[in-house]
Formats: sequence, structure tokens, C-alpha cells
Amino acid sequence: MTDTRTGYIYKIEVDNELLYIGSTTNLRVRKNCHKSRCCNEKDKEYNKNLYKILRENFNINRENFNNKVKFLWVCDVEFNKRCELGSVEAEYIKLYNPIGNTTKPYGKEWNQNEYNIKNKDKIKEYQKKNYNKNKDKRLKYQKEYNNKPEIKDKIKQYKKKYSKSNKSKRKCLFCNKWIQKAPSHWNKHIISNKHKKNLISFIDDFTDTRDSCLNIVKV
Ligand SMILES: [Zn+2]
Repeated sequence: MTDTRTGYIYKIEVDNELLYIGSTTNLRVRKNCHKSRCCNEKDKEYNKNLYKILRENFNINRENFNNKVKFLWVCDVEFNKRCELGSVEAEYIKLYNPIGNTTKPYGKEWNQNEYNIKNKDKIKEYQKKNYNKNKDKRLKYQKEYNNKPEIKDKIKQYKKKYSKSNKSKRKCLFCNKWIQKAPSHWNKHIISNKHKKNLISFIDDFTDTRDSCLNIVKV
């Protein structure tokens, strides 16, 4: 039995236009990563489609990035293996087909296992390198962020509202329904058509509710 972790599907919008869908285990770190890629000419990913669109079509630069680029939480994903998070992300990319997503996660055939097996060593090496490189900085950052009184309070409120006392279940706030927390149940639910339909109407209709959820992860 491996530990279950929580990841997030997020989307990037500018001027209410959906540009990108991604997944991460840390929204704050991921946003800063996008910012660097978009605004730092020396970044390897600088010329990727998403960043070109942000700069050329929306005039995004280092100064206006935080204000203009909306980095929005879409849903939580429970996972044991990172590829499970990727496969949920793939479902959402297929659903929305955002213009900034050029490469599909885990390759053309959406075959994450094949991708992972082929690139196992490369992925490991990359993760290790990157992790160690920024480890201290990141830990300090995360600690500071999580300790902010307003963030602490919001996390507490959120947990209270959505976790109830039943630890093996969690509430899907889009469907207003309790689901088993285990990835086999939860992930099946969040890629179901019913959930996607609720998610879309939720996002369209309940801006206020969405914003209050998003505040938790606003960076
Ligand atoms: Zn749902």
C-alpha cells in the first residue's frame, strides 16, 4: 500500500479566456514556475506555445503577470502514483482543449505507463536534480505561506466545511455528494461525465462560490 496524496488540476485564464490546464501537487510553486517560464528569456521553456500566447496575445510581462494571469483551481485529485494525476489532467485537457496545451500529458496516445517506463531514469534524475536545487528555498517558502494567519484560517475553514468527520470520504463540492476518498473511487468520480457537467455549470454559474474556494490557493 502506498500513501495517498492529493494533487490539483488547475487552469490558467487571462481575460476570462481559458489558455491552459495543468496538474500539480503544489499550486504556489507551479504558478511561480509558469511565471519564470513566461518572463525569463533564459528559461528552457520560454518559447513554448503557452508562454508565447501569454506574451504576444495578452501582453503579459513580469510586472503584470500576477494581476492578469488567473491561476485557478479546478479540482482535487487523490493519487498514489503521479501518473494517476496525469491521467485525470489528460481527461480535462480533452474536455476543454485549451489553446495553450500543445503537448498532451504523457504523449499522443495518452499512454502514461508507456511514457513513464520509457523515461523512468530521465524523470527520476530530473526530479532529483530539481528537488535538491530548490529544496531549502521551497521549504522556507511553503512554511511561510502556510503559516500566514489568513491562509491558516482559510485552510481550517475549508477542511471543516468539506471533510466532516468521516475520514474515508470526502465531499465533491461540485456534485454535492460524498465519495470514497480512495483514488480508485475518487478519481473515477472526478472524470465521470456527471461530475464534468456539474463542474462546468458550477464554474459558469457560481462565480462567488468558486472565488471563495480559489482563495485558498490564490498565490
Ligand atoms: Zn463531482
